[in-house]
Amino acid sequence: MLILTCPCCHVTAEETEFHAGGEAHLTRVGPGGAEDAFESYLFMRQNPKGVHLERWRHVYGCGKWFHLARDTATLKVFGAYSAQTTEPPDHIRAAIRDQHPDWQWHGAS
Ligand SMILES: [Zn+2]
Repeated sequence: MLILTCPCCHVTAEETEFHAGGEAHLTRVGPGGAEDAFESYLFMRQNPKGVHLERWRHVYGCGKWFHLARDTATLKVFGAYSAQTTEPPDHIRAAIRDQHPDWQWHGAS
């Protein structure tokens, strides 16, 4: 079971208090965007065995969305950070690279 700490209200709780919302840092495609880009935005998601950046919501707490970096194979949580960011902050990247030296953030998809 995952134990998560909400970066908004700083409550630490089991994952059942939260709700996963899929991949983080997706780039939205607006009106006038190419159909291929819109299709990718709607349907194409990463599903790595390893480091994954995800969106989570503190459903039974403050209700706010945040981002979480974790390892899907080991369930290690590298950290949580604001959903108002367009890329993982430096301290999260450093925590990931401590465990996965070859990890590179691919940028928004
Ligand atoms: Zn919260």
